Formats: sequence, structure tokens, C-alpha cells
Amino acid sequence: MIFFVTMEQIVAVNSDSKPVICREENIMTKIQMTTPLVEMDGDEMTRILWKMIKDDLLLPYIDLKTDYYDLGLEHRNETDDQVTVDSANATKKYKVAVKCATITPNAARVKEYELKEMWKSPNGTIRAILDGTVFRAPIVVKGIEPCVKNWKKPITIARHAYGDVYKGTEMKIPGPGKCELVYTAEDGTETRELIHNFTGAGVVQGQHNLCNSIESFARSCFNYALDTKQDLWFATKDTISKKYDHTFKDIFQEIYDSEYAQKFKDAGITYFYTLIDDAVARVMKSEGGYIWACKNYDGDVMSDMVSSAFGSLAMMTSVLVTPDGKYEYEAAHGTVQRHYYKHLKGEETSTNSVATIFAWTGALRKRGELDGSHELEEFADKLEKACVKTIEDGKMTKDLALITTIPNPVVLNSEDFIKAIRSTLEGMLLL
Ligand code: NAP
Ligand code: MG
Repeated sequence: MIFFVTMEQIVAVNSDSKPVICREENIMTKIQMTTPLVEMDGDEMTRILWKMIKDDLLLPYIDLKTDYYDLGLEHRNETDDQVTVDSANATKKYKVAVKCATITPNAARVKEYELKEMWKSPNGTIRAILDGTVFRAPIVVKGIEPCVKNWKKPITIARHAYGDVYKGTEMKIPGPGKCELVYTAEDGTETRELIHNFTGAGVVQGQHNLCNSIESFARSCFNYALDTKQDLWFATKDTISKKYDHTFKDIFQEIYDSEYAQKFKDAGITYFYTLIDDAVARVMKSEGGYIWACKNYDGDVMSDMVSSAFGSLAMMTSVLVTPDGKYEYEAAHGTVQRHYYKHLKGEETSTNSVATIFAWTGALRKRGELDGSHELEEFADKLEKACVKTIEDGKMTKDLALITTIPNPVVLNSEDFIKAIRSTLEGMLLL
């Protein structure tokens, strides 16, 4: 047990000099934090959930210390997006951050929020400053069964967050002509490779990556595997892409052999490399319980496949891990705009807060681990268990009720679901 709840009596004396009890209060010893964590607030429905989670599930139990940054779109616009940069720099300082989902502006959002400009994706800005790898894992709950029936444990996708097609340069080729790759070294010498002799119209694309970034990706994956005691799989198409993808394979292998082989052996976990198509086939037949490291595009595509096959985007956690041990936790889903517009109209919503709660528990557990606060770690574990138990007891939001195998689930609105988790948590804390 981690709390002491005592009844405190506030006593006054009446005109006959007899003491009277004016008030009885529950006084709870809150868990203390030694170091703040970076709190990045966000937008729309997730901003509403954020406040409810803090008020109902965190502040009553923890003397919460956060370094707060408002990444809501209005404030990003007011500060010319400086607040996003500041929050990433604060994460470098404090090592642990928790982030609410944020709007990535498009043309419609520029109009809706009368933005000075189309600010970049906050996640992109934060990732560029911290240089990390994103790990996404489903929250597995009995009664929300994966479509792939042999998947028993979560599959964590580690997505390289730099380069390839996402930093590609493209050209439409209007008609016949020669297309080449040209590298000009600093001393002016050129190396050329023919891409194609076009005899008609076509398209061409140039991609790049950086050895530094691939090395960081590899170390983040190896560290995360050790952290979570799970096997690590990595796959590329090195048989076809003999230089580009092969470089990824080689860098992983060199770093594994020189820095991690012994540590993996001691932890009883393995590193396994295979071709991407072989990996896909094995994943489908596996029972889960490992980390699957993917190049940028593979990770983008496969994380959506894995999350939808596990049930719901609203049950997917996401953490950015840097090679030098900084952690930024968030939900994998967005700001749930459609629900927010209903909320603004005064209509009831049933938005699932589990992934956002797990972002907080991930950050609190890591803060506890780094600061040696066992109480904080234990609280994070209990709050996660309370979420899972609430759903397994049949109380859930609409997205889960639609897919659950639990008979007659009770569908709760956004607020009542959080209150139901709180009541499960209270029961667990008093055990
Ligand atoms: P979304 O917020 O992920 O929501 C898409 C749909 O998925 C929702 O309309 C809802 O389906 C369902 N859903 C997602 N999360 C849910 C939850 N917690 N509970 C219940 N249902 C949930 O994606 P979006 O609507 O395409 O994007 C909205 C905004 O989020 C965009 O401005 C985008 O830029 C931003 N975004 C941010 C992040 C991030 O900060 N990490 C990531 C992705 C998107 P139903 O409508 O069928 O109920
Ligand atoms: Mg995607």
C-alpha cells in the first residue's frame, strides 16, 4: 500500500466551552516528486481529456511537479512556434516528457485558427531536436481480441524517424532523356550513377539517410529492447537495395556485435535480422512479445496495421526514445477532432482516454525509475492496471464496446469512463 488516508477533525470550541467537530476531511499523503517532468499540453478533445486525467487520476494522489508548455495551436501561433522548441529543449534538460496530441496544421486549420503561417508538425519539430526513435505498442486487454488470433502479447513497432521517402526529392520526367545521381565531393570531384535512360515520360525520386541517424536508431532500439527485456527484430530489403538498405543492416550488426551482444546474452534476449518480406510472414505467425524495428516507411505502414489488428488506435501507446536516454511519451492517436466538435455543440462524447493515461503512466514510471522513486513507479503500475481492469469488468468507451467480446458492455461517456477508472484505482490503492 502506498497511501495513508486519515480522518482529520477540524475542531472549534462553542460558547459552553465544549469542543464541536466542524469538519472532517480525508487527508492523503501524496506521492512526492523530486524532479519535474515536461508537460506538453495539446489540442481539441485530447486537451479536454488531459485536464480530466490530471484532475481525477493524478493530482489527488501525486504532488505533481511539471514544467508546463502549452502546445495548443493558439499558443503555438502566438509564440511563432517557439513554445514547441522550448518544450523539446526542456525535455533535453529533464529527460522525461509527456505530450498531449496536437493539431498539425493544414490549409483548413490555417483558416480555422487564423494562423500566421502553416506551422510544422510539433512531433516533427520535437523529433528533429531530440533525434529519437518512436516505439509504438498496443495495450492488450482481455475482451479486445486481436484479429490475428495467435497474437497473445503486444508487438512493439520501432520506427526510424528520419529520412528516406520522407525527405525525398522528386521530379516528373516529361519525356525522353537521361537521369543520373550526382555526388559532388567538397573538393569538386563528381561521382555519377545512371538512374535511367528515359525513352518516354516517367517519374524519379532521390532519397537519403545519414549514418549518424541510423546509428542512433540502432542504439535506441538495442537500449529499448534491454529496457523492456524483449527480443529485437530488424528487417530491410537488403537483397534488392544492396547499398542503401544493406548499410542499415551492416550498421545494426556492427553496433550489436561491438556494444550489445554480451548485454543481450545477459538479459536473455536476442537480436534477429531478416528480410522485410520474411519478417512480415513471421510476424503474422508469431505470438508477439518482441520489438520490430522498421525503416521509416515500413514503420509508418506497419504500425497502422499492427494497431488496427490489435483493436483500436485509442489503445496504442507511443514513446520517443533518444540514443542518450531522453523519453517523450504520448498517445498514438490524434486530437479526435470529430468528437471535439460534438463536445463543443454540447453533445455527449465517448472518447477513450486510455492511451493518454498510459502516456502519463509511462512518463511517471520513467521519472520514478530515474529518480529512484519506487512509489511513483508503483502508482504508474496501479493506474495502468486500473484502466485494464475497468475495461475487463465491462466498463468502456464506445470504440471498444463496438469490438469487444465481453457480453453486454456498459458504454460510458468520456468523463464517466475516467471516473470508473478512478473508482477501480481507489479500490486497488486501499488493498
Ligand atoms: P484521430 O484524432 O486519431 O482520430 C481519427 C478517428 O479515430 C476519430 O474520429 C475516432 O473515430 C477514432 N479515434 C481516435 N482516437 C480515439 C479515441 N481516443 N477514442 C475514441 N475514438 C478515437 O485522427 P484525425 O481526426 O485524423 O486527426 C485529428 C487531428 O489530430 C489532426 O489535426 C492531426 O493533425 C492530429 N494528429 C496528431 C497526432 C499527434 O499529435 N501525435 C497524431 C495524429 C493526428 P470515430 O470518429 O469513428 O469515433
Ligand atoms: Mg501513418
